[in-house]
Order: sequence, then C-alpha cells, then structure tokens
Amino acid sequence: MATIKLSSGHLMPLVGFGCWKVDNATAADQIYNAIKAGYRLFDGAEDYGNEKEVGDGIKRALDEGLVKREELFITSKLWNNYHDPKNVETALNRTLSDLQLDYVDLFLIHFPVAFKFVPLEEKYPPGFYCGDGDNFHYENVPLLDTWKALEKLVEAGKIKSIGVSNFTGGLIYDLLRGATIKPSVLQIEHHPYLQQSKLVQFVQKQGVAITAYSSFGPQSFLELQQNRALNTPTLFEHDTVKAISTRLGKTPAQVLLRWATQRNIAVIPKSNNPGRLAQNLAVTDFDLSEADFEEISKLDINLRFNDPWDWDNIPIFV
Ligand code: NAD
Repeated sequence: MATIKLSSGHLMPLVGFGCWKVDNATAADQIYNAIKAGYRLFDGAEDYGNEKEVGDGIKRALDEGLVKREELFITSKLWNNYHDPKNVETALNRTLSDLQLDYVDLFLIHFPVAFKFVPLEEKYPPGFYCGDGDNFHYENVPLLDTWKALEKLVEAGKIKSIGVSNFTGGLIYDLLRGATIKPSVLQIEHHPYLQQSKLVQFVQKQGVAITAYSSFGPQSFLELQQNRALNTPTLFEHDTVKAISTRLGKTPAQVLLRWATQRNIAVIPKSNNPGRLAQNLAVTDFDLSEADFEEISKLDINLRFNDPWDWDNIPIFV
C-alpha cells in the first residue's frame, strides 16, 4: 500500500476510509468490511459520534486476526469544546476508550475554533452545543496552548503523530514558529472546485503532509441538503472529469482521487458499497497526464462547502 512518510517518522497510508456520517447502526460492520477490503487508515473524529462503533469494527478485525494493531492507522480529532489544555487529555481519553485502543496514530485539532467546554457527562459529543441551548460561546485559548497539550500526549505515548485540520497558511506559519513537535498533517477540504494550490505548495514544502477531505466536492453536502451543493454541478458529471475518466477507463471518482494522490495528497473517501470501496482504494496505480492536470486546474472556483461561517459567522476562512 502506498504511504506518506510523516515528519514524525511514521508512515501514513495514502488512501483511507472516512468515518463522517457513517451510521452508528452499521459503522462496526462497515469498518470491519473495509479492513477486509484492504483499508488500513480510518479517519474518525470525536464529533462524528460513532467512535464506539468504529472501535467495535476494529476490535472484531483485530480479534479475528485480520490485521495487527500496528498495521492500522487510526486518526481522530479533538473537538472544539476541548481546546483548553486542561481538557485535551480528558477528550483524548474518551476517544481512546470509545475506540478501545491505547493510542491513536494521528490526532488533529479539528477546527481552529475554541468553543466553551462542556463536561462529557452533560453532552457527548457536544456538536455545536456550548452549554446554553443554541447559543454559541467561546473560550480564549490560543491554538499554541492546545498544541502544547497535544505534544505532551505524544510524549505520554497516547498519540503517535499530531496535526491540524481546517487551518489556513497564516495559522500554520504561526504554529510552526511555536511548535516543539512539528505538525505531521494538515487535513483540508480539497477538490477541483477548491484547489487551494498556494496552501498545498507552502504546507508540503514545510514537510507537512496533506490529507484531502470531501474529494468529490459537493457530493458529500448533497446528503445534507446544503444549498451551495444543490446549486453546483456534481464533479462526477462534469465534462472534464468524464472525458478523462472515459479515456483512462477509470470511474470519475477514481480520477478525482488520483488527482490528489498523484501529488502525494492523502484521500479518505467512504462507501458502503463493496464495488466502490474497492475502486476508491485502487487510485495509486495509474497516472493522469500533465494536460489532464491542466484541464482539472481550470475547474477551480474557490468554492468551499464546509465553512464555520455557516455556524456562527466564524471568520476562519474570510
Ligand atoms: P466522501 O468522500 O465520503 O464522499 C461523499 C459521497 O460520495 C458519499 O455520499 C459517498 O457515498 C459517495 N461515494 C464514495 N465513493 C464513491 C464512488 N466511488 N462513486 C460514487 N460515489 C461515491 O466525502 P466526505 O465524507 O465529505 O469526506 C471524506 C472524509 O473526510 C469524511 O468521512 C471525514 O472522515 C473527513 N472529513 C473531515 C472534515 C474535517 O473538518 N476535517 C470535514 C469533512 C470530512
């Protein structure tokens, strides 16, 4: 399996399985079947509310000897309510106990946004709940303080590699100045409609690996009935993507995933369908031409589907 060597020294698979919106009722089976199909990287998060079931699927595969723990690469993410250094370990411990693991391979700060702490027994995962109905409340916690707490958990052996998600260039630039342990990964929304080429160029140059999420653009947000997604032509049906896919004898999904992996950007699609599970994994053994890259780069319209501005006018991407 193709991997990326992280700045921590650990290897991360270039293709994984994303656990967002995987139903609790089917998650354990889906994860188990994905391991059977050859997936080794699972991208989860506290906020997805399914870490217990993801853990059940992993445990079944480990118990049956399908894989060894060290062959898996398990990612989780610190949710916004736990940025205060005194709460970071509490949140990680909950993740580890839900996953039934004693370490995670990668732990990311999910968003550069600190919500007010909500005790686990009050609501877990809290989502957008900040202790007061639908009202948002924030904490004055600088990101570097949260980062320092994560560094301690690496030293304690509970996390192998640490990273960030939804950070912009300026925030990474600042983090690199203060960090003792450099971030291993930046996870961002990345697809032909939102290419963020300068960010990708800068971050890769710093030796920080990139993971793309929502590689199919609007597709994931159609399920959420998001207006921006409903009003955007799908990438699977786009003439440019279709023409390349027909010429190469690959599916549009494979073209979109290869567009990332060929530049050493990891991808984490998910599917419940065995055929799609297999095709999404087979995206490192063919190549797009330079002309294909040029055609796809013309599709960039800087269109972001996942934006905290939609939550409470939080300006991380303005
Ligand atoms: P996705 O990659 O899961 O794709 C979206 C849709 O495409 C799904 O409905 C899926 O059924 C469909 N699909 C998958 N394979 C297909 C194929 N071969 N052909 C046709 N359709 C196919 O999108 P996503 O969930 O937005 O992103 C992937 C993962 O990224 C998530 O599961 C999560 O782990 C992560 N993520 C992270 C963040 C973050 O803030 N860090 C945000 C969003 C997602």
